[in-house]
Amino acid sequence: MSGALVLLSGGQDSATCLAWALTRYDQVETIGFDYGQRHRSELEARSRILRGFRRKFPGWATRLGTDHVLDLRVLGQISETALTRVCDIATVGNGLPNTFVPGRNIIFLTFAAAVAYRRNLKHIVSGVCETDYSGYPDCRDDTVKALQVTLNLGMEQRFVLDTPLMLIDKAETWRLAEQLGGNDLVELIRSETLSCYKGDTQHMHAWGPGCGECPACNLRARGYAAFVARSPQ
Ligand code: ZN
Repeated sequence: MSGALVLLSGGQDSATCLAWALTRYDQVETIGFDYGQRHRSELEARSRILRGFRRKFPGWATRLGTDHVLDLRVLGQISETALTRVCDIATVGNGLPNTFVPGRNIIFLTFAAAVAYRRNLKHIVSGVCETDYSGYPDCRDDTVKALQVTLNLGMEQRFVLDTPLMLIDKAETWRLAEQLGGNDLVELIRSETLSCYKGDTQHMHAWGPGCGECPACNLRARGYAAFVARSPQ
């Protein structure tokens, strides 16, 4: 059992993780979740990223296998309904979007593990990061490590949950992309990935597409600026 399943959302972090996995594992598959995103643009970004990887990186393309998209629209029933409205003030205070589904990352990793089991893939790679988003408790290193134990016990497997971005910030994530795939990869990620909470693809900035105002756009803009500032001229 070898190979990897990468959680590919369409954002900067998961695209970087895909490149990371392609430099390490011979067989790499991807998984995404349709959870009734307000913006289909996130799923469309996934397709563009996969096309870009295949076209610009022939050495990686041969390792890149099946893309799985699971229908998890049931999550819509606990994201923007009365069930969570009582939490709105608290979540806004945390800087999290109102569509936040508690434990969503645990749900995604658990579904990914079930697919990895069926596909005989040992590594499950995700772009979770506790450096920038302390508000998401299910993205913390301790949570993911505990979940790895749980999944291995519950499925009688030896999965490894890889989290290459866990302890680095957004500027370092751009740097990692540069190290993995040079300027071509930085440009692919900059232009094709989408991090914006509003799914805005109409406005293009130096750091990529987005509304330029939501917390995700602000984080991405700051990270890209720091990456550029630290780059040798
Ligand atoms: Zn935005």
